[in-house]
Amino acid sequence: MAKRELNGDPEEIKAAIADLQGKVAAKNAASEEAYEEEAYDEEEQTPDVEIAVKNFEDRINDTVRLGNVGDLINDAEEELEEQQRYEEEIEAEERRQRREMRRRSRMESLKQERAAEEAAEPAPRKIKRNKKYKPDDDIIIEMEGVSKSYVKGVPALNDVNLKIKKGEFVFIVGDSGSGKSTLIRLLLRELKPTTGSIWVNGYQVEKLRRGKVPKLRRSMGVVFQDFRLLKDRNVYENVAFAQRIIQVPIREMKRNVPNILATVGLAGKYKARPDELSGGEQQRVALARALVNRPPILLADEPTGNLDPKNTIEIMNLLDTINKNGTTVLVVTHNDKIVNDMQKRVITIKNGVIVSDEEMGGYLDED
Ligand code: ADP
Ligand code: MG
Repeated sequence: MAKRELNGDPEEIKAAIADLQGKVAAKNAASEEAYEEEAYDEEEQTPDVEIAVKNFEDRINDTVRLGNVGDLINDAEEELEEQQRYEEEIEAEERRQRREMRRRSRMESLKQERAAEEAAEPAPRKIKRNKKYKPDDDIIIEMEGVSKSYVKGVPALNDVNLKIKKGEFVFIVGDSGSGKSTLIRLLLRELKPTTGSIWVNGYQVEKLRRGKVPKLRRSMGVVFQDFRLLKDRNVYENVAFAQRIIQVPIREMKRNVPNILATVGLAGKYKARPDELSGGEQQRVALARALVNRPPILLADEPTGNLDPKNTIEIMNLLDTINKNGTTVLVVTHNDKIVNDMQKRVITIKNGVIVSDEEMGGYLDED
C-alpha cells in the first residue's frame, strides 16, 4: 500500500506531491484544451481524456512505482499535515519555553537589581528625624518609658529611660533575671515593648514594619554567651555567612572576611571548625561575624560568661579596641572585676528598673 511506503523525508514527499500536482494540473490543462479543441466532437474527446489520464497514471506509476495516484497524493498530504501539526506543536512548545526563560531572566535581573540596591545602600549612620524624635544627632540608642511584661502585670523591664551616644562603650550589669537580655532583645526587635518608645540608629524600633526589621538589625552586630556558631562550617564560612545574607559580592567578601579575622586575631585559623577552637577563639569568631558587615553598634550579651579569666580579658580588650575604632558597644555582663577595671559607663538594672547609671562607673555590689 502507498501509505506504508511514504514514511520518507518530508521534503522529498513535498517535492513528490508538488511534482504530482504539477502533472495533474498539466493533465487537466491538456484535457481542457483537448476538450475545447474537440468540443464539436464530444464523443471522441472522452476516450482521449481517458487515455491521457491512463498515460499520466502510468507515468506516475513508473516514476514512483505505486498504485493509485489519488491515494498517493491523499496519503502524502495527510502525512504532511501530520508532520506539520507535529512541527507546530514543537514550535509552540519552544515558544512557551522561550517565554518562560524570558520571564525567569526578568525575575532574576530584578532580584539582582534589588540585591545590588540593598548592597549599595550604606548602613544608615545618620539619625533619621522622626516627628517624635528629639533632634539629637549624637544619640544612637534611646529608650523612653519602656516597659515589657511577658506575663500581664509582671514587668521584666519597668519604665526604662536611657540614651546612648554614638561611639560610647556601655556596660549593663545586674543580677540574673533583672531584665538585661530583655533590653537587648527589645533593641533587636525580637520583642516589642508593652509600653514606651525605642530608637536605634534612627529607626523607631517598635513602630517599624516587619519588612524593615532586617534593615534595623543590620545596624547591630550581636554576640552571645554561647557563641552560636555553625558547628559544621569552618571559621571562614561562619563569618562569610553574615556577608552572604546581605549579598555582599564575592570579591568584596574575600577581602572583608580575612580582614575582620585578622582584626580579632584569628587570621591563621580560618579553616578550623568551631569544635577545634577554644572558647575564647570561638567568641572571636562570633565577634568577627558580628562585625564583618560593619554595623555602627555592637551588642554583647554576657560575651565572657563561658570564658576563663585570661580569655575574658582578651575579649574585653578586643571590645575596647572595636569601640575605639568607632563602633558603639553595649556589653551585658556579670563580671564585676572587669567592669571595675575598665572604667566605662555602667548602667545597673535591678528587677527591671535602672537603679544607677554612671560615667566611669563600677559594679554596684549591694548584696
Ligand atoms: P537577665 O538577662 O537580666 O538575666 P531576662 O531579661 O532574661 O533577664 O529576664 C527578665 C525577666 O523576664 C525574668 O524574670 C525572666 O524570667 C523573664 N523572662 C525572660 N524571658 C521570658 C520569656 N520569654 N517569657 C516569660 N518570661 C520571660
Ligand atoms: Mg540574660
